[in-house]
Amino acid sequence: MKVPYFKPYIGREEEEAVLSVLRSGWLTMGPVTEEFEAKLRDYLGVKEVVAVSSCTAALHLSLLALKIGEGDEVITTPFTFAATGNVIMHVGARPVFVDIETKSYTIDPEGVKEAITERTKAIIPVDYAGHPYDVRAISEIAEDHGLFVIEDAAHALGAEYEGKKVGSLSTTTCFSFYPTKNITTGEGGAIATDDERVAERLRLLRLHGMSKDAWKRYTSVGKWYYEIEECGWKYNMTDLQAAIGIKQLERLDRFIEERRRIAKIYNSELDGLDVITPKEFGNVKHAYHLYPLLLKDYDRDEFIRELGRRGIGCSVHFIPLHLHPFYRKEFGFRPGDFPRSEWVYEREVSLPLYPGLTDEQIRWVVESVKEVIG
Ligand SMILES: *Cc1c(COP(=O)(O)O)cnc(C)c1O
Repeated sequence: MKVPYFKPYIGREEEEAVLSVLRSGWLTMGPVTEEFEAKLRDYLGVKEVVAVSSCTAALHLSLLALKIGEGDEVITTPFTFAATGNVIMHVGARPVFVDIETKSYTIDPEGVKEAITERTKAIIPVDYAGHPYDVRAISEIAEDHGLFVIEDAAHALGAEYEGKKVGSLSTTTCFSFYPTKNITTGEGGAIATDDERVAERLRLLRLHGMSKDAWKRYTSVGKWYYEIEECGWKYNMTDLQAAIGIKQLERLDRFIEERRRIAKIYNSELDGLDVITPKEFGNVKHAYHLYPLLLKDYDRDEFIRELGRRGIGCSVHFIPLHLHPFYRKEFGFRPGDFPRSEWVYEREVSLPLYPGLTDEQIRWVVESVKEVIG
């Protein structure tokens, strides 16, 4: 029996949608991207959605649109993917790491309070594995100190906090449509925001800083006219990607139900073992992007080898940013600096969790974990 760590779920509808864009003669950003943005906006219940080339671009553009740069500090967690920290470096700001709390593995609000200085401009919380960050505590801190919240929701499309969808909870919310994420467009991302002025800046910066409606002010010149208002980036989505996204979005709620069903099976089968299983803390709806299992008393790397021998693929999320050579060199970080992130990292293994896993595969994963740990 083979259980790959991940396999995207792509159907005939996606294939036909791509074909139709290919035949339309319009391959880059255009009407299909606008349709995808509108559908995502409706799904999330937000005023604005801006589709981009990746979640990394979404995070980078959020910082740029909010005018965060040289001399500013941005608070985030080291327990994340490289993109979250790298984009802060890209704008010339300083990433200030705050450790996670040990239930949902999201940024610790008490630590955030202590890390704020007069240079702090924003907080980037990460919805680890699909569990929303502590929105109530973090927004209160952000309001008290006049900070923006840029949510890294790469894992959390479809998640909810107190009945509200992730996407409507922060200044901007950044989603990923990378193949492993809850829905995919091959590569792609989006920014959700309720702030129309921010959305306008995001659109400008997504495409060279080119003002689309400049020609309106020069009607005698015509439609070929544009103006570069700022030094922007080339971060647009394409209609080929958006066509896949529209079909994937239609499947999203069923995808999440299936992820939840599998996670529940894993939880009920594995809870008796010497492990910590993922749970929902507070009034949230988890998006179950990952199934992070913590091994309390079994070597993680040995466990991955044992599951590999049984044909089961696993992954690890995440190697804390402060342990990577770049961040160590740049900021002098050392092992022990963020002990909770390191504690989780050392024990964490992500089990296969995606729509398309068969009952036999799920059973095989459960039996194998029990056999190896037992
Ligand atoms: C995947 C991921 C990203 C980056 O997403 P891309 O779309 O590949 O740029 C950012 N943050 C987290 C937490 C991720 O898991």
